[in-house]
Amino acid sequence: MTKPRVAIFDFACCEGCQLQIVNLEEEILDLINVVDVVEWREAMSEQSHEYDIALIEGSITRPEDEKRIEIIRSRCKILIALGSCATIGGINKLKNKFDLEEVKHCVYGKDAHMPHLETGMTKAVHEVVNVDYKIHGCPIDRKEFASVIRALLVGKKPVIPDYPVCVECKARENICRYEYNEICLGPIIRAGCGARCPSNGFRCFGCRGYVDNPNVEAAREVMDKYGLTVEDLRQKMVLFGCGQGPTV
Ligand code: SF4
Ligand code: SF4
Ligand code: SF4
Repeated sequence: MTKPRVAIFDFACCEGCQLQIVNLEEEILDLINVVDVVEWREAMSEQSHEYDIALIEGSITRPEDEKRIEIIRSRCKILIALGSCATIGGINKLKNKFDLEEVKHCVYGKDAHMPHLETGMTKAVHEVVNVDYKIHGCPIDRKEFASVIRALLVGKKPVIPDYPVCVECKARENICRYEYNEICLGPIIRAGCGARCPSNGFRCFGCRGYVDNPNVEAAREVMDKYGLTVEDLRQKMVLFGCGQGPTV
């Protein structure tokens, strides 16, 4: 049986999600045995124009990136966005809140107008091309990555949670961060991380993006219960919330 050909590409990102794949350690050997990795800049020098599954890490930030992702899309059967940068624009989308010229000068100083540093508004991958599946998180959860790939390899639809982080958090019997006077985004953010942050003493800051239909009323009730306002919640949606999101 022919193995599915897999290619991994990166755009604007920190490459932390690819590192999660490398960190699969022994499990990655199992996966590599059942697929044919034909391109992965971080791990090999070979390149290919022929692949069935394309994994995309990073946001789209330059006109040339848009052309590149369109070509990748035209060559693959399944395109998977990998990590917050790719699925929702991630931290890179913070840039969209500021004047682009100011941002370029702040980051690159006198070199801001060098041609290779040309940059535009940050877009998530689905804002440019059709995306078949999204593996959320900053970084991705490597176990979730492995389970999505395994499901695809046996012809199943991967299960991507569409309920809020609070569900996993309550299952783990964590004390709610609101009890510590913190504003947690768990009620409106997609689960799948095992409530990683609240389970380690931090609030959820939204790296997996919003659930498809956030229960805005429930979030409002939580805010009311703790004497907070909707504006307080909105202010906490900055880091990963600069893309489209629910009106709360
Ligand atoms: S989602 Fe986070 S860990 Fe992954 S590439 Fe982007 S910034 Fe890095
Ligand atoms: S609001 Fe945050 S800390 Fe509270 S239950 Fe939900 S995820 Fe957990
Ligand atoms: S708890 Fe929130 S911020 Fe933390 S990993 Fe999960 S979705 Fe991301």
